Amino acid sequence: MFPSSRASVAVIGAGPAGLMAAEVISAAGIPVQLFEAMGTIGRKFLLAGRSGLNITHDEPLPAFIRRYGAAADRLAPLLSDFDPLAIRAWVQGLGIETFVGGAGRVFPEDRKAAPLLRAWRQRLEQQGVEIHTRHRWQGWAEAGRLRFGSDQGEYCTEASAVVLALGGGSWPRMGSDGQWVELLRQQGIDVAALAPSNCGFNCAWSEHFASRFSWQPLKSIQVAHPASGRMPKRADLMITAHGIEGGAVYALTAALRAEIEAQGHALLHLDLTPDRTQAQLEAALATPRGKTSMATHLKRRVGIQGIKASLLRELAHTEQFTDPVLLAAVIKQLPLPLVSPRPLAEAISSAGGVLFSGLTPSLMVNTQPGLFVAGEMLDWEAPTGGYLLSGCLATGRAAGLGAVRWLQGTD
Ligand SMILES: Cc1cc2nc3c(=O)[nH]c(=O)nc-3n(C[C@H](O)[C@H](O)[C@H](O)COP(=O)(O)OP(=O)(O)OC[C@H]3O[C@@H](n4cnc5c(N)ncnc54)[C@H](O)[C@@H]3O)c2cc1C
Repeated sequence: MFPSSRASVAVIGAGPAGLMAAEVISAAGIPVQLFEAMGTIGRKFLLAGRSGLNITHDEPLPAFIRRYGAAADRLAPLLSDFDPLAIRAWVQGLGIETFVGGAGRVFPEDRKAAPLLRAWRQRLEQQGVEIHTRHRWQGWAEAGRLRFGSDQGEYCTEASAVVLALGGGSWPRMGSDGQWVELLRQQGIDVAALAPSNCGFNCAWSEHFASRFSWQPLKSIQVAHPASGRMPKRADLMITAHGIEGGAVYALTAALRAEIEAQGHALLHLDLTPDRTQAQLEAALATPRGKTSMATHLKRRVGIQGIKASLLRELAHTEQFTDPVLLAAVIKQLPLPLVSPRPLAEAISSAGGVLFSGLTPSLMVNTQPGLFVAGEMLDWEAPTGGYLLSGCLATGRAAGLGAVRWLQGTD
């Protein structure tokens, strides 16, 4: 039997945004059919839990909202309605305590996603939500009916309202593959192209450097991005065969992408010895080195060796090694050109998505009354640190409540 009910709301996509929309709609006593393309719900949510489910962030609300960059103003009311304290209370309501880990990151007590997802699913089922896995939404048929593909074939169904929560385009094997972009554009809905966010970047490494240092950490450096004027950050980066990865770079993705688009490349400055001043470096490097090699001199005098020494050789000009002042300067400000972002499929999240200009404040598509959009498929991006899940939960809730108000005729 194919699920069909004109009276129920169809929530499509069982990630955190869709699950939250389903929760608030069913809590209002409105029947919900939840459709998911994959065999199980919340695949990316579970993946996020593998390295510790960072569910939100503990910081004052204005600073928290600013993390949403260009979309901060638009998201502010939604994030304020379901702020980090409310998210923590919601997790607690599912029987799981939270704690604040390093740098304000908030986790469920065991850092895992699976217990939370289990409790969440149980709550949804108790509230009468009907979950249909292996049901892939394929667009619209005549009279606004929804087209699905399932194990039993294709079928069309009706719904009183629809919440799309189909995710972005990163890690497509977890289900969110961005195929909805064309389906929405065909309906005249404006969608900014999906782009990688919180991602690594390609660098033009020599073959020698790439093969020798791939997947080796570059520890205790300071990363600056002159074009964005942000405060330099102490960081560890990972060198890969293609370029670099690491939290400090992920946090700069939007600015780096924009710079690459405008200039053809982006430039980072690395400080290889953040604990020494340039003057200290100059003095140490100016001591006569006699017959010792430059490699030994750098190692003995300023502790630069291994991957740091090779990176310096890779990126500095030969003449900069001939003068202690020039050498000290390039060690403190080693220019690292980034050629392009890594592909979307590898990124932690997506930028781009459905434009807010085509949506009402409660995330309903202006031109399609009764159609709501939530989660990562909206045009916002944020750094790692719990901001992504917070944004998905807050927009899922807003879209769900919007659908309830619309059906009750109060919006
Ligand atoms: C490795 C990794 C670690 C992460 N860690 C964290 C973290 O610790 N903290 C944090 O805040 N964020 C983290 N994130 C990001 C976070 O997981 C996502 O931002 C979030 O899951 C997006 O939620 P969503 O509901 O919008 O979309 P998704 O979780 O992607 O869910 C969308 C769902 O829609 C389904 N779907 C897609 N198309 C169709 C269709 N046509 N028909 C039916 N169903 C469809 C998909 O199968 C999927 O289940 C991480 C991401 C990755 C990749």
